[in-house]
Parts: sequence; C-alpha cells; structure tokens
Amino acid sequence: MSEYKNIESALIHGGISSDKYTGAVNVPIYQTSTYKQSALGEFKWEYSRTGNPTRAALEALIAELEGGKAGFAFASGMAAISAVLSLFKTGDRVLISSNVYGGTFRVLDKVFNNFGISYSIEDTTDLEALEDNITDDVKAILVESPANPLLTVTDLAAVASIAKKHGILSIVDNTFMTPYLQRPISLGADIVIHSATKYLGGHSDVVSGLVVVNDDELAKHIAFIQNSTGAVLGPFDSFLLIRGIKTLAVRLDRHVENAEKAAGFLSGHKAVKKVYYPGLPDARGYEINKRQAKNGGAMISFELYENYDIKKFFKALKLVQLAESLGGVESLVCHPATMTHAAIPYEVRQKIGITDGLIRLSIGIENINDILADIDLAIAESEE
Ligand SMILES: *Cc1c(COP(=O)(O)O)cnc(C)c1O
Repeated sequence: MSEYKNIESALIHGGISSDKYTGAVNVPIYQTSTYKQSALGEFKWEYSRTGNPTRAALEALIAELEGGKAGFAFASGMAAISAVLSLFKTGDRVLISSNVYGGTFRVLDKVFNNFGISYSIEDTTDLEALEDNITDDVKAILVESPANPLLTVTDLAAVASIAKKHGILSIVDNTFMTPYLQRPISLGADIVIHSATKYLGGHSDVVSGLVVVNDDELAKHIAFIQNSTGAVLGPFDSFLLIRGIKTLAVRLDRHVENAEKAAGFLSGHKAVKKVYYPGLPDARGYEINKRQAKNGGAMISFELYENYDIKKFFKALKLVQLAESLGGVESLVCHPATMTHAAIPYEVRQKIGITDGLIRLSIGIENINDILADIDLAIAESEE
C-alpha cells in the first residue's frame, strides 16, 4: 500500500494530505464552482463538476486505501452505482447477487432496464451455477460480501477469477466492510463501490458514494461519466468524508468488538431463532470471510421467534434507534422487509430469506452493556 506500511496511517495521511497552497494540515473546503484562468487555455482547475481540490483529495485517498488506480466521489452511493452501471449499453446484462442492496436492484429494474441494460439475480455462493449463467450478453458480475441483510458471504477472489476468465468485469460493493476490513482489488476485483454514507463517513451526517477502479481505461471512462452525468460530491461533503475516514480504524475496531459481543449475546438468547453474523464460527461462509476479510464486520441480522411481536420490539428500544442506514457511531436497527428491502417484491423477498421477522442491527460504538441491556429489555417487552 502506497508509501504507508499500514492502513491506519494511510487513513490519516493518504491521498493528498495537507494543503499545498497554504500548508494547512487539512485540505480546505474549496467552496467554489469555477476557477480564474490566467490566459486562454491556461488553468489547473476548470469547473467544479469536472474537478475540485477538496473532492480530488478524497478521490486520491479512497484510491490509495483500496489499492486502486483512481477514485471518484459521488453525491450518494446510488449515484456511484449508477455511474458504474452507465459503463454498459443496450443489450448488456449484469449478474447481481441475490442479497444485493435494495436500491441497486431497484435502479437496475426500474431505470437501467428502460435503456435495455438487463440483470439476472444469482446465488453468488454457488460459483458453478454463476459461471454457467454467463452468456454472451453478460458484461459484469456485481456482488456484495457480506451482503445485505443476511450477511451472505461470497468468495470475492473466486468471482473475480471467473469474471477474468470470461473477459467481464467484477464489481464489489464494499460498503459493509470498508478497505480497513476488506480490499476487493487485492482479491482481483476491477471496480469497488462504496456508499460512503455508512462507515467511511461514520457519523450519519453525510450522504455520499465512492468508486475505485484498477485500470486506466476504466478510470477514463468513469471520469467521463462522472463529468457528463454530473452527480458529483460537493466540497463540504468531501471534507466531511475525509474527516470521517481519518478515524475509521479506531471506530471500526470498537464497532467490531461490540458486534462480536452482541452476536454472542443474541446467539445465546432464548427469544432468538437465528443469528446472521459472518464472524460466528458456525456461520455459513465463515471460512471464506475469514480468508478475505479481517473479521466479521459490525452488521448483524437476527430473527425472533414467532411469539415475539417485532412492532413492540422496535417501539420498546430506547438507545438503539429505529432508522434506515448503518455504519454510524450510533447503534441503529431496521426492518429490512418494510424498509431497506421494501423495493424487492414480496415473493422474491421470501425466496431469498428476507422474512417479515428479520431484524437488522448496525452496532454502534456506545458501551456494549448499554446496547445489550436495551435490546434485552425490548425483547422482554415484545413477548406475547
Ligand atoms: C446504503 C447502501 C447503498 C446506497 O448508498 P446511498 O449512499 O444511500 O445512496 C448501496 N449499497 C449498500 C451496500 C448500502 O448499504
């Protein structure tokens, strides 16, 4: 990794560290739309949709952290995903994993489909079936690991090698792990996507997306799409994201420590039917995840037995807040069937295991005893 031996240092000093015009330790918020040109055709920066120094610092930082050639910052994770999907044209098909983020499914199903870019939903844990489904029109495989919300693990190196063999792109949405826990490009992926709204920002105060590519031609193509379609991240939000990324390692260490304790607690709880957490040794995909990621991350899903009323459960929580999103310092809980994955039709949801009793937890960095006491009390109050 770049000039830093360890990612903890690169998180703080990577990319463009300090301002080259003033020496300011932090790259300032260059809140400008345009730049004065010294003569016709003589300029360094042209227009802030095309490039902005604050955004450029963030883009260099994420490229370095993911070990890619170039990074790009967008106004949201969905803008980043849409920019990547804009690489394709009419007649192309993208294979997506069955537990892919609801919004990714929706933009393919309701937007890109209109332009003749199709998709197929695949069980990416079944590599043989996945490879069998690569027809001539398939141009990419898009996966998440662990995937939302059942924390399904996909073998990223295996998917990348299948993609390479067939001359198509492997794209990884690395939102749940971040480069601190998992670096898909080192496993062979061509493109990494982030909803930086989540762990990278880390404080639930900025909506943003990032793309990293590991190829110069792809970098040119994404840069062209970014400038042409224009969903860029503003200077202030770019600054916030750089600020958030500096503390990623310490935050995630605590997130994961708390998540491991919470997964153990839920696994032993009499009200809990099932726990999904790739850090549990008996979890499906545990070994693969261990090989490709530092640990199981900090997202946990679980199901309560039928004699617990999940509406009451959500209502009874005090510290853990019911909200969309994840990855912030505060613990959040959500109901995938009606919230994050509501865009997926009911029948499809049942088929892939997103039942109405499923609860997703984004474990924050509060004191773990307070988090567990809150959950325990809410479970007790929801018993019928
Ligand atoms: C939230 C999320 C997205 C979408 O990102 P936004 O910033 O909300 O647009 C994409 N992928 C995953 C895995 C997510 O969690």
